[in-house]
Amino acid sequence: MRTPVLFAGVYTLLSLAYTMLSWGRATANPAIVPSVEGLLVVHMVVHSTVGGLVALPSGRFKLALGAALAATLIDVDHVGQFLGLPLVDRASHSLGFMIAGGLAMVALVRWRYFKLEVPPLLAGALVVAVVLAHISVDSALPEAHMPFWMPVSSEPVAIRSSLSLVYATVGGLLVWGATLAEQRARRKRA
Ligand SMILES: [Zn+2]
Repeated sequence: MRTPVLFAGVYTLLSLAYTMLSWGRATANPAIVPSVEGLLVVHMVVHSTVGGLVALPSGRFKLALGAALAATLIDVDHVGQFLGLPLVDRASHSLGFMIAGGLAMVALVRWRYFKLEVPPLLAGALVVAVVLAHISVDSALPEAHMPFWMPVSSEPVAIRSSLSLVYATVGGLLVWGATLAEQRARRKRA
């Protein structure tokens, strides 16, 4: 259980840190108490399933489990909305988080700030893939808006639901590519 929990834990912290960077960019949100309705549980299950699926091309079950957890926990970026803080809602549902979060994960694994027995490139690709998997599910919801261009613009934009499957597929291909690259590098070293 160490790998999935570690990956998802660091992922959650990265999402939270990225959200904190948006401090002051939103007018204070009216605090909304998250409601634990049946619908929300279904939503989380779907997020986890798609998150796990995009990680499968890595051939590592533990990583798929970690990605499944992370695909739900990325939603800590709703913290501003829940606590009434001036944070951009859904800040991590963005291209900026894919890039910054992916690079941060590569660096953290590469320089062993925490011990994750995963090649750095694959860990980084997984961060991007999980965001794509999450956006894939969210975009299928009616009126899906997210600040995709954060931090360039904190304006929520509509995400095309017709491309929902494309987002998840691109995520899966990224993981697959990183896995192949890593296998090739290992063969070269041997
Ligand atoms: Zn979401």
